[in-house]
Amino acid sequence: MYATRIPSPVPALFPDFLWKGATTEGRVHLTFDDGPHPEWTPRILDMLGERGQKATFFCVGENVERHPAVFDRIRQEGHSWGNHTMRHESGWTASQFSYLRSYLQCEAITRSGLFRPPYGRMSRSQARAISERSLIVMWDVLTGDFDPRRSASDCLEASLRHLQMGSIAVLHDSEKAAPRTMGLLQGLLDHFDVQGMESVALAMPRM
Ligand SMILES: [Zn+2]
Repeated sequence: MYATRIPSPVPALFPDFLWKGATTEGRVHLTFDDGPHPEWTPRILDMLGERGQKATFFCVGENVERHPAVFDRIRQEGHSWGNHTMRHESGWTASQFSYLRSYLQCEAITRSGLFRPPYGRMSRSQARAISERSLIVMWDVLTGDFDPRRSASDCLEASLRHLQMGSIAVLHDSEKAAPRTMGLLQGLLDHFDVQGMESVALAMPRM
């Protein structure tokens, strides 16, 4: 099993990125990547809404274009959102030009000033160019909900072990992750209720 927590030398290499939020007592930041998805995003929004919790959704531009009503729901219900490129490109295989074009296309639609690179993969020059316009948001807790070898309870157990004040946890609103995400989210929300914890939407520089 891989480490769920990011090893500490990695954030040190990219100090301008946001790896963790303010360490306010009882506050964490749930984030969801890869949507909006027509089925799973609304179900996640329902679950968050029932508990009064807020999250940040890093949206793929093409999915926003396909499902504009779902994107509107994210915005109307008090969550934050960010740019996750237009077509979910990996910065390691895309050229500088096509990666930045994809970022700009998605930014034209999302306009939040928050960016998360798909797969967490970016070259230094891509990161430098994007950080002039957006806050690059990474994470300190990778829940592993994208990994079909794990169960929802594996993901929950690992996440709770690593969650700290101000943690930024990555989940997914996608078809592929859904078999784990929904149970994981339920468990996290139950834990937050019992512990009096709150998930807070990340502040968007452009808003
Ligand atoms: Zn992604």
